[in-house]
Amino acid sequence: MTAEVTVTGTRQREAWLQRVMPPVEQLDQELWSIPVPIPQNPLRYVSVYAFGTGAGLVLIDAGWGSEQSWRSLLAGLESIGAGTGDVRGVLLTHLHYDHVGLAGRIRQASGAWIAMHPADHSVLARTDYRRAELAVALEAEFLSGLGASAAEAAAAVGTAAEWEKYAAMALADRLLTDGELADVPGWKLRAVHTPGHTPGHLCFVDERSRRLFSGDHVLPRITPNISVQRATPPDPLGDYLDSLARTRDLDVDEVLPAHEWRFRGLAERVDAIAAHHERRLAELLAAIRRRPGATPWQLAGDLTWSRPWDQYSGQMRIFAVTETAAHAHQLERRGLVTVSPGRPPVYAAGSLPRD
Ligand SMILES: [Zn+2]
Repeated sequence: MTAEVTVTGTRQREAWLQRVMPPVEQLDQELWSIPVPIPQNPLRYVSVYAFGTGAGLVLIDAGWGSEQSWRSLLAGLESIGAGTGDVRGVLLTHLHYDHVGLAGRIRQASGAWIAMHPADHSVLARTDYRRAELAVALEAEFLSGLGASAAEAAAAVGTAAEWEKYAAMALADRLLTDGELADVPGWKLRAVHTPGHTPGHLCFVDERSRRLFSGDHVLPRITPNISVQRATPPDPLGDYLDSLARTRDLDVDEVLPAHEWRFRGLAERVDAIAAHHERRLAELLAAIRRRPGATPWQLAGDLTWSRPWDQYSGQMRIFAVTETAAHAHQLERRGLVTVSPGRPPVYAAGSLPRD
């Protein structure tokens, strides 16, 4: 069953089908969508939203941190008669590099403030995130804890040099929590905390124009990766399903996501995504029944993915395993499986006897 959503970003969707970048679009008198490419990534681009405030622009998200992305953002701003110097602030939906990557460079060029949710800010600010050698070692250890061999873990995490760009991501000057109004003069942009994809993911509702800027929380075609991560809350899928329930009935007309295209039909899309996770949970439960005593690393290979499992390498394999672990954890929370103590955890179907 697929979601009955209505595509409103028809030019974005057409561009997707033609495998080209969508255009910069003016969505309202003082609102633009600027696609910023993500080089060599199947997501292709982040839509940066630019709000005119009468005294400069405020952006939602910044784009991937590369030279090509930077030039695209500059060209996009130029096409709406602005430059980086006009940016007053950057609201970040979450800590991922395709959203935060250019934020520091924008701040350098303009003195703009950067705002994000405290839960994501504290991940980026951790010493063991900002010191690449340490981060890479701990990430590998974390994957070993899910059942990867040392070699698999090291290969999947990559090198400290590759981690440097994450270690250098901009930290926020301002923190925004659930229910707060963002500092965007002329707009009524309220932050909605939607943990799951990351612990501090934020959506923004513009209460005047009834738009939901959904970041990666709700996307029209794909579902965001929901994964256990090192040093973040243990049940991201439970958090995500709660966040979906909280956003389902928001009083909005249109959803403006960070990837893919704009659409109408928030409740339908939320229901479809929640149903997808229920199917995944059922599939994983069946896999655990077939192979009791398996680790998340092993179970991931038992599930169906969009391409054959042996084609999953590096970051893709990490996402698949950590997402499997998130589902296994949720099954355990529901009392459907038991987990052995120790590392790596191994799962068995059934509940613990209770007295
Ligand atoms: Zn993203």
